[in-house]
Amino acid sequence: MLAVKVFGKQDMRVVNVPKPTIDKPSDIIVKVKACGICGSDKAIYNGSNPFVELPRVMGHEFVGEIVEIGDEVTEFAVGDHVVIEPISYDGKCYACRQHMPNACVNLKVLGVHQDGGMQEYIKVPALQLHHIDKDIPWTTAVLSEPYTIAGNATTRGEVGLSKTVVIQGAGTIGQLSLRVAKAKGARVMISDVAQDKLDFAKDNGADAVVNVKNEDLVEKVKEWTNGEMANVVIDAVGAPSTFKTCLDIASVAGRIVPMGFSSAPVTITQQPIMQKQLTICGSRHQTFQFEPIIQAIEAGVLKDDGMTNQRFNIKDAQKALDLMNNDPDKARKIVLMFD
Ligand SMILES: [Zn+2]
Repeated sequence: MLAVKVFGKQDMRVVNVPKPTIDKPSDIIVKVKACGICGSDKAIYNGSNPFVELPRVMGHEFVGEIVEIGDEVTEFAVGDHVVIEPISYDGKCYACRQHMPNACVNLKVLGVHQDGGMQEYIKVPALQLHHIDKDIPWTTAVLSEPYTIAGNATTRGEVGLSKTVVIQGAGTIGQLSLRVAKAKGARVMISDVAQDKLDFAKDNGADAVVNVKNEDLVEKVKEWTNGEMANVVIDAVGAPSTFKTCLDIASVAGRIVPMGFSSAPVTITQQPIMQKQLTICGSRHQTFQFEPIIQAIEAGVLKDDGMTNQRFNIKDAQKALDLMNNDPDKARKIVLMFD
């Protein structure tokens, strides 16, 4: 069977690997139907992801159909459509005991620490599988994992009814965070430098958009909130300057969710944190978001609506990565297909 394997910096090959087999009675084998490509996959390909161990089959956003189950599997059957949760954890460390297994000291992520979804078949423990209705197209189902990232960020930010939320960055995660925040009843403003991304956000529920190329975000937030400023700020850009802006545009008692993982230093002052009693919340992967997100997708509350705008066959994985590298603005979500 085919697998997309990264061997080194920009050395990715579609190779033949053995098909997985049932060894334990609790094993489940999934035929992968679609796998999204994430910015972190691009980083693995470019040699700039510090967490990955090579060689590695990439892919942590994937869905498929169960083709084989061990004798002890009861909650899944052959033919079921499933979304794969890419993280596993020890359940014992301090983070796990605080109900934050996404920050587990022994966190393992499919496609990063273990071979992931860019292969035709994969063996996954039942604990990491979630059912999804058969009438949901694979290209919509595959958005479940990126939607859970937005689910986690908005949960950490305590986004809720009538709160004002400002999202910096209208890329994939910014767009999905917008949709989840709207589904949770918030008022949402989103900013970017690319007008086409802002137009897409406007078409998908944004109450206000700000092009920071020619508009001042602080002034716009002040105007939009009648001086209160934003109750929740999600930074889906992750640059030093956008993190700094978070402190300026947050309201009193505001919550800030930085989503970047840049190691570049940022100069901020303590005053707004103390004076406004701000809460700055990290958000890594997701915790317990798959069930609510999948239910919202099944109910039609969260949709695709033009998000997966590029599709490639697994054999053309190189073309997909090249597009992501050379023309990232053309790809909201690139999906590898397997049929
Ligand atoms: Zn743990």
